[in-house]
Amino acid sequence: MSNGPLPNKVDPRKLAERDVRITGEADLSGMPNLCQSLIGTDGVVNVDLHFSVNTEGQRIRTITGSASGHVYMTCQRCLDPVEVAVEADFNLGLMASEEAAKQLPRTYDPLIIGDEEIELLSVVEEELILSLPHDAYHDDCSIKTSYGDAGTVAEDNDKPNPFSVLAQLKASNK
Ligand SMILES: [Zn+2]
Repeated sequence: MSNGPLPNKVDPRKLAERDVRITGEADLSGMPNLCQSLIGTDGVVNVDLHFSVNTEGQRIRTITGSASGHVYMTCQRCLDPVEVAVEADFNLGLMASEEAAKQLPRTYDPLIIGDEEIELLSVVEEELILSLPHDAYHDDCSIKTSYGDAGTVAEDNDKPNPFSVLAQLKASNK
């Protein structure tokens, strides 16, 4: 199992027919759409993809596997970088058209491909984007406590103060 960079362009049909497994490190700088949600290109994502043909029922060429590692996002409390674990699973069925994709069993997500080679990183990028949390926070963010206190105060303002309710009850009983 090599830990070198992923190949750039691949012919997924050919790889599937040959039952090929590709492992390697995804270059974050090669995934600009993903990086829009990240701080810089620091981090490591290891990719392990298996190209094969599912011969149960209709013959489906598939890409299965995972991408996992860590990236850096902005903590939404303190705005400092926070390390975020990413884990994406691949269960792709290679389809020639949207029309053909309708026949795909629901266990697979369709990946519509033309006759050309595909950019492996774009496929990985798309799944990683889906796996990112909407907001990232430090587990032990230093600002958490003060926000927690503020939250408690706000909650008290929303709910009637139990003592004032009691006072009103006593008043109405008079
Ligand atoms: Zn934080």
